Formats: sequence, C-alpha cells, structure tokens
Amino acid sequence: MDLTFSERETAFRDELRGWLAENQPPAKPSADAGEDAQFNWRRDWQRHLYEAGWAAPAWPTEYGGRGASQTESAIYYEELGRARVPVAANTLGILLGGPTLMVWGTPEQKERYLPPILSGEEIWCQGFSEPDAGSDLASLKTRAVKDGEEWVVTGQKVWTSGAQYAKWCMLVARTDSDVAKHKGLTYFLMDMEQEQVQVRPLRQITGEAEFNELFIEEARIADANVVGGVGNGWKVALTTLMNERAGLGFALQIRLRQLLDDVIAVAAEKGLLENAYYADAIAELHIRCESIRLLAWKGLTDAERYGQPGPEGSLVKWLWSDTNQRATQLAADVIGPQALMGGTSWSYELMRARGNTIEGGTTEVLKNIVAERVLGLPRLKVAA
Ligand SMILES: Cc1cc2nc3c(=O)[nH]c(=O)nc-3n(C[C@H](O)[C@H](O)[C@H](O)COP(=O)(O)OP(=O)(O)OC[C@H]3O[C@@H](n4cnc5c(N)ncnc54)[C@H](O)[C@@H]3O)c2cc1C
Repeated sequence: MDLTFSERETAFRDELRGWLAENQPPAKPSADAGEDAQFNWRRDWQRHLYEAGWAAPAWPTEYGGRGASQTESAIYYEELGRARVPVAANTLGILLGGPTLMVWGTPEQKERYLPPILSGEEIWCQGFSEPDAGSDLASLKTRAVKDGEEWVVTGQKVWTSGAQYAKWCMLVARTDSDVAKHKGLTYFLMDMEQEQVQVRPLRQITGEAEFNELFIEEARIADANVVGGVGNGWKVALTTLMNERAGLGFALQIRLRQLLDDVIAVAAEKGLLENAYYADAIAELHIRCESIRLLAWKGLTDAERYGQPGPEGSLVKWLWSDTNQRATQLAADVIGPQALMGGTSWSYELMRARGNTIEGGTTEVLKNIVAERVLGLPRLKVAA
C-alpha cells in the first residue's frame, strides 16, 4: 500500500481544495425549517457542484464526469468530508444508479437517464428491501407481469430512503416464480410519479422521515425500462450493492474523525483529558479511526490492483458503524444532559448512529462475509 500521492493526484486534490475554499454552501437550514428545506439545500449544492464539473468526478467524461481514478475519487470524498459540505441530494443516483446503468444500461437508457442524475433534476431511490426481504433480498415478493409493451407491478417496499423526492426507483421485482429465487428477478426503473405508487413516510428516532414505505398497486413500467435483461435482476442488483459502499466510505471515516476531534475539544475544555476513563476511551477511538482510514486505503489499493473491490470493504463498514456508535455515545458522556436534548446536533448524531449497523448491510451479515470470504472460515449453515 503506497499512500504517497502522484503529481496528478496532488494537483487534483489542490484544485478541489481551492474550489471548495471559494465555494462554501449557505448555512444549513435549521431543523424548524423542515426536511424539505434541508433537501432543497442539498439539491442546490449538488447543482453548484454540477455546474463546476464536480458532481461526480469518478464518472467517465462522456457522461459528464472527469474520469477520475479510484484514488482521485477517494480524495474527492475525503476533501468533501474535510470541508464539511452537505451530501449531494441525489447521492443514490450518483453512487448507485448511474454506475449500474453504465454497466448494464442500453445506449438509450444511458442517454436518457444519466444527465438528470448528475444535475440533480431527477432524484433516484432504491426499492430493494421488503417487509420480509432485507438481508435475504432474493426472497422478495413484489411481482411484475408482462402486459404488451409494459410490465404491471404489485407489491410493497420498505425503508426506501428519499422516495418522497424521487422521480425514479431502482426496483427489483419477481418476474418468474418457477425458477430458483435468485434467477426469477428483474431490475426495473419505475416512474414514481404515478398514482399506483403510494409513498408513506416512516418517522425515525431522530424525528425525521428519511425513509418510507412504498405501496405499489398495479404500477406500469415500460418494457424499455428493464435494466440488464429479464431474469438478470440479481446480477444487476449486485452491481448496485457493490457500488453502495465503494465511495462513501472515505467521506464517512473523515466525518467520524471530525466528530472525535470535536469530542476531544469539548473534553479538553471540561478538563476531562486528565481523567483516565475518558483518556482511555478517546485513545481507543483514535486507534479505531486510524485503523479504519488505513483499511479503507488498503481496500482501494486492492481494487486498483485486482480490478474490483474485495470483501474487506465489509470490514470497513462494520468497524465504521460500530466506532461511530461508540463515538456518539462517548460524546453524550462528555457533554452530559445537553447532548440528549432534542434538536441539538449531538442528540441527532447519537440517535442517527443507531441505524448505521443496519443500513447498507447489517453488522451480523457483514461478519458472515468477513468470516467466510476474508478469513476463509466454513460457510454458515442456517438451521432448518
Ligand atoms: C437508515 C436506513 C436506510 C435504508 N435505506 C434503504 C433504501 O433506500 N432502500 C432499501 O431497499 N433498503 C434500505 N434500508 C434497508 C436495509 O437495507 C435493511 O434494513 C437491511 O438490509 C436489513 O434488512 P431487514 O431490516 O429486513 O432485517 P433482516 O434481514 O430481517 O434482519 C433482522 C436481523 O437478523 C439478522 N440476520 C439476518 N440474516 C442473517 C444471517 N444470515 N446471519 C446472521 N444474522 C442475520 C440481521 O443482522 C438483523 O439483526 C435502509 C435501512 C436503514 C436503517
């Protein structure tokens, strides 16, 4: 693993740093302003990035990106994290949907869908999870039946982040019940703007409704919106899932570092750094932060060397989510009752962190992957 940047990488970082120094977003709207105001703030920021050619540097130049290397892409997320700017409104489109279309989409699909993802004009959501299919995604029951040039879709999705703002949904549905469960799936782009798709918000412990339930009752999808071929949905969905952890990991580890630095600053003000309990807890979190940073870079080196991300990415996500929960808990201990008061950023961080060990793959499932694919332990036999 070589952590020295090349001249090109250093120039890339300096150009971005310079741009970010001169292009700070306006202050985040307060919680009282509501979730729509916060979403619009993120959408405006994405538009600003887009106009300057910084919305998705990792995308090829033909699709509006900069053809950035994996290392440059990691630098991009590190710098955004360091500058503490908002996450782009259409993150699921940029990180998941766009790259999936680049692999599996037809030329017409790429031409139609990629530009508005980048500009933030059309927001995307991910309709994978169902009430009885989360970790075991291939058990999903939402059905799609061919009717002339269209598909008719009926079922229920859950935990669909950003569905209330989305124009397009990456939807995986069952198109054949007579074959093995992984083989009977198809990946669609579903237009969310039809009355057969009802979006009902689910309120989280933080008070916000980031995700939703989708009730789909005979929704129509044009045959031209099948991605990757009928019956090939499992493979296409894996492309989406593989991209899920690839880029964001770098921004997340930087934000964790910042959170820890903020906690250390408050602990210093309160004279708690002399206290063995707090000093010990902070030291442990510091070591974890460094380990996560180095593991993320090692994963990148492997991806560049072998052409694809390895299963070690699961280790980064597992360690990050566990460490983020510990760091927010320590923050609450250091700050005291004020950290538990609703509406403060500390209370938000503490409560939002609970979902980290579930979203993007639960810790238990990630541990299975690490056990089987990194350590080479025997496969788990699920009891009948
Ligand atoms: C904030 C947030 C945002 C999300 N956004 C989206 C989204 O936009 N789109 C989307 O489709 N989904 C989304 N999800 C859903 C997420 O992907 C699922 O919650 C996750 O995959 C787990 O599925 P589940 O909730 O059905 O739990 P289950 O899979 O039912 O798991 C229940 C418990 O059993 C454990 N378990 C399951 N299988 C195994 C196993 N083989 N070995 C050991 N333990 C196991 C799990 O670890 C967990 O503790 C989001 C979730 C959260 C928290």
